[in-house]
Amino acid sequence: MCGIFGIFNARKAAELAVIGLHGNQHRAIDYAGMVSSDGVHMYRESGAGIARQVFTKAMLDRLHGKHALGHLRYPTVNDDPRRDNTQPIVGRYGGNPTAIAHNGNITNLQALRARFPDVALSTSMDTEYILRILELVDTGDIRADLQNVFSELEGSFALGILLPEMLIAVRDKSGNRPLSIGKFEQGFCISSEDCVFPNLGATSVMEVKPGTMVLIDIGGIEVVRFAEAEEKKCRFEGIYYSHPSSIVFGEDVTQFRLAVGRKLEELFPVPNADLVTAVPDSSTLIALGYGESGRSGKYHPVIFRNHYVGRTFIAATEAKRDIAVSQKYTFSATGIAEKIVVIVDDSIVRGPTSSKIVRKFRELGAREIHLRIGSPPNKHPCRYGINTPTSEELLASYMTEDEMCVWIGADSLEFLPLEVLKGLSSSPENFCFACMDGKYW
Ligand code: SF4
Ligand code: MG
Repeated sequence: MCGIFGIFNARKAAELAVIGLHGNQHRAIDYAGMVSSDGVHMYRESGAGIARQVFTKAMLDRLHGKHALGHLRYPTVNDDPRRDNTQPIVGRYGGNPTAIAHNGNITNLQALRARFPDVALSTSMDTEYILRILELVDTGDIRADLQNVFSELEGSFALGILLPEMLIAVRDKSGNRPLSIGKFEQGFCISSEDCVFPNLGATSVMEVKPGTMVLIDIGGIEVVRFAEAEEKKCRFEGIYYSHPSSIVFGEDVTQFRLAVGRKLEELFPVPNADLVTAVPDSSTLIALGYGESGRSGKYHPVIFRNHYVGRTFIAATEAKRDIAVSQKYTFSATGIAEKIVVIVDDSIVRGPTSSKIVRKFRELGAREIHLRIGSPPNKHPCRYGINTPTSEELLASYMTEDEMCVWIGADSLEFLPLEVLKGLSSSPENFCFACMDGKYW
């Protein structure tokens, strides 16, 4: 999962882009990069870490121009450490510098390698293919050339593309990853999520529709369709990845998570529970929904997270995740002792977080621990840009739900059933559930 933010026609574009990236920071914390344009030249800066730390004042001073495109990266492939694997990547198109930032994952790399044998990559990123093919097909007609490039690609791509005097936002026909357009005074911005627009004094104009590109230049915006939509929007954006204050795929993320929690309680109540707590932060709204009726205990947080540790799921390596989990949570001992507790989480991926938390509740004297999960078991790796590389890593791929309950050490464990999750999604046929049902597209 990655984050994209771009801005067109703004004074201090690079500084505003840092605010835009910061508002998408929940999507990735490993690398941040930015390219700016003054209409002729492009300038590039990048580094490891979060946007606010990567972009120093000196860097921002070098990022000249009124247009900027930024990227937050979370590696979805094993990076070659000798290469610069930050984005945006810069190339040349139509005789000018051109930058591209990608969220998603291209799934037909082997076919691309065979079809374009002379393309040499300087990074470990599938994204570079998009840029190199664009360089190859260069006729100077950007609409036609991009359409041509996109017809070669399979998988998932939400893109920001910066030309000297144009910013382009793209969503592939599946619309698997989100991308929105915002407007302020003279200019426009593009963002993986619209939650950040108010921070910039911008208002949301629209989500980029699947199979379209939105071209932004000094004359305004133009929407060009390049493929018929065949929507496969990531169901996990709403459950976990997206920010609760975003509207993603037309869905209010907060309302969706509350609905998931309510449904989970209806189906799997714990009538004698004293309290409902979340594994913060991503499951807080699901837990609120679960506790709303009060039938299975009221929402009362007893797990707290340290906000100076990043999200553990998106920490790129096992070692980083382990450290992150052990330093991330603290517990209210008096709130837990002698209590019958419902712990709500959004998902179980690899399992150690859940088992560590349950063990902690036992140590603190909880009477009963019931785990409720706001999504179906995660049995299959994601091929569309989320780092769950092998099924062997996914607890639910090699254990039954009963075995998982025993392994985690809870008194009961229930998942939101797939059919129920589909029922909560408007037009479920337009969503991807592949990590839950194995139906890749
Ligand atoms: Fe999202 Fe899962 Fe589909 Fe990946 S496989 S795009 S995480 S729903
Ligand atoms: Mg979590």
